[in-house]
Order: sequence, then C-alpha cells, then structure tokens
Amino acid sequence: MLYPQHFIDDLKTRADLVRIIEPYAPLKKKGANWMGCCPFHQEKTPSFSVNPSKGFYKCFGCGKGGTAYNFVMEIEGLNFPEAIKRVAEISGVPLPEPIDDKKYEQNKVKKEARKKIADEVIELNKYALDFWENHLQENNAHAKAAREYLEKREISKETIKTFRIGFAPDSWEKTHRRKRFGFQKRGKKSHLRSFSRTNYISGLGH
Ligand SMILES: [Zn+2]
Repeated sequence: MLYPQHFIDDLKTRADLVRIIEPYAPLKKKGANWMGCCPFHQEKTPSFSVNPSKGFYKCFGCGKGGTAYNFVMEIEGLNFPEAIKRVAEISGVPLPEPIDDKKYEQNKVKKEARKKIADEVIELNKYALDFWENHLQENNAHAKAAREYLEKREISKETIKTFRIGFAPDSWEKTHRRKRFGFQKRGKKSHLRSFSRTNYISGLGH
C-alpha cells in the first residue's frame, strides 16, 4: 500500500511532533525548541531536542534524529506505511485512499506503453517531414508542379524553408515503403497514414 507523495509531504509538515514524542519523552519548551531526555538512550541530562516548526528531532547524545515518521518507526517498530497511518492518527488528519500496489503497477505499464507509441509517432513525424521536404526539391514532374503551385500561391523560398513545407507523393505506400519501418502491426501503420493525410493537405494549404 502506498499513499500519494503530496499527502506524505504535507502530513510531515502538519504533524504535531511534540504531541507524538511526549508520551515517550517528557519535553520542556526552550526557545524555539523543546528539550527532554532521549527515549533512545539512557541519560540524566536532557540532550534530546525537538524543533516542531521545522518538523525534526535530534539527540545530541546518541545522534538519533529525523522526522515524525522516523520517530514512530523507530520507537514503535513500524514500517513506513504504518508510520504514515500512525502520524495521521495522532495528528487528527484523515487518511486518503491508499494506492493499491497492483493498480499502481498496472498504471505504470499502461503509461509506458502510451509513451512508446508517442515516441514512435514523433519518430514517424520527423522522418515524414524530412522525406517530404526533400521530395519537394526533387527533379521530377510532380515535385516541379508542387513548386510551381507554391510559387503561384506566393510562398517564398524562405517561408518554405522556415516552415519546412514539403511535398507528399500521391501515394501513402511510397512514404511508407521508403522508410521500411519494419512495423508489422496494422495499428502502427495507421499512425503514419493519418499523419500523412493531415500534412499532405496542410502542406499544400488546401
Ligand atoms: Zn539519544
């Protein structure tokens, strides 16, 4: 079980450290700090200091120190999620729904799969942009006609360069064949198909 990170951070600053520590070590206020005899080692002169506004404690005798979580983990032998629960309980803060480990993992896998597809689409976009850009400058009748069309539309060479305007051959397969993406699945091909259609049209300004 996990709790959202923002809740863990927020609870750490909201936790009443004095209230958490007092049952184990009576504390007395001294300036901004509270002092007491350390609950982790035997001593007669108080060297255990608690700073509630900063949210940490420190023993100058044995060196133990940390946050509210560290304290309840150490003194009550709790693990981290149990410590969060305990600190929330003492501080009167309601606990949010814990994140199920299994669901968390599943979401992570889904997110990674989505990112992989997005990366592939970006790669295809880059490739298609280069390919069409080069294609516009080729020495053939189709490319020439496309250049003439752009000229007629008064699109200057600088604009063509700046906006990387290209010419898509009138064939989906041509772009796809040139790249030999090696994608076997139809679903992946479709990224290129839908992309080509959009850019073919927008590239020529229809
Ligand atoms: Zn100590």
